[in-house]
Amino acid sequence: MKRPGLSGLSTRMPQSGIREVFDAAQSYDDLADLSIGEPDFATPEPIAAAVSEAVGTGASSYTETVGRPELRAALAEKLAVENGIDAAPESEIIVTPGAMGALFAAVNVLCDPGDEVLVPEPYWPNYHGHVASANARLAPVSTDEAFVPTPDAVEAAVSDDTTAILLNSPGNPTGAVIPPDRLRALDDVAAEHGLWVIADETYEDLVYDGATHHSLASDGDRFDRIVTVHSFSKSYAMTGWRIGYASAPERVIDAMRVLQEHTVSSVPEPAQVAASAALANRYVVGELREAFAERRRLVLDRLAAIDGIDPGTPRGAFYVFADVSAHTTDSRAFVERLMSEAGVASVPGAVFGAAGEGYVRFSYAADVETLTTAMDRLERAL
Ligand code: PLP
Repeated sequence: MKRPGLSGLSTRMPQSGIREVFDAAQSYDDLADLSIGEPDFATPEPIAAAVSEAVGTGASSYTETVGRPELRAALAEKLAVENGIDAAPESEIIVTPGAMGALFAAVNVLCDPGDEVLVPEPYWPNYHGHVASANARLAPVSTDEAFVPTPDAVEAAVSDDTTAILLNSPGNPTGAVIPPDRLRALDDVAAEHGLWVIADETYEDLVYDGATHHSLASDGDRFDRIVTVHSFSKSYAMTGWRIGYASAPERVIDAMRVLQEHTVSSVPEPAQVAASAALANRYVVGELREAFAERRRLVLDRLAAIDGIDPGTPRGAFYVFADVSAHTTDSRAFVERLMSEAGVASVPGAVFGAAGEGYVRFSYAADVETLTTAMDRLERAL
């Protein structure tokens, strides 16, 4: 008889390295914290107001597992108008607890144990957890000097066990935006090998300097093999509401629905009301993007002026993935040094996979004063 104990999942799923820094940062009194990827703004007023009113009149129930019908209708319209994705609100859209919930469900319904999921590296470390939860394996794919995967690299990484490829654009941690032509070329390779594509478009609204976001599922019949994941977290400063959504072919959404039915049941109704209000007040996204664009400029200019730091030109999300290899080949030790000697928190590149070694991720989702203090301190220390 098997002895009671923890399952293998607890060892397969490593702690997120980003959380490690976040936890370590709590023991410092005076830290300019550029470690966490969370907008520092309060949820915009029209969204908060709609929620107070709705909760006061009873919007506090379980909802349909896939989300309130009025929210799905609004999402279908947003997907059609802004992403060019034609998804039926009644069968091809599911509202999830953040993009995280959608990614977890998608990986679990697409993968059998032992399957492989291709992930361009450097990558957001939580993908490890999603893949591990399905008892599948994450296989890194190399990227070019702009941190964009190439079709050849995908071709080289495919094996008999490969089931899916995860594409994240705009990307965390690199801020890389995959151009439409490259996305299509990558998808062509995926199609040739019969792979699913999971498109993580959590940062879709945060692009700068003329970069544009492109949803792969908008092109021709590609929708049939793509799960597209979106979020309210970053675009609307709604990280704590835990709401995102996925669009995909009906059989995938149906399987995700069953998984969600047995895990979270449905996304809290107040968060769904907030999401409807967010879609009705989409102008707030532009205001947030402008604020981030200003912060990005500040951080890029200041970092570029510091010896031995190359911030590159990230054109999306709110991260700078700076090359610090002139200073160190041990990004964890370097980040510890920046924390203890300079009073600046950042995330070691190594947390995002082996290809991230020699880099440090700075998040500019912090107020201008914190960013300025951090840059002053880095300049002095380095
Ligand atoms: N995908 C990426 C690339 C992220 O960076 C994050 C959050 O940091 C998420 C998904 C999860 O977002 P959400 O808050 O919607 O779960």
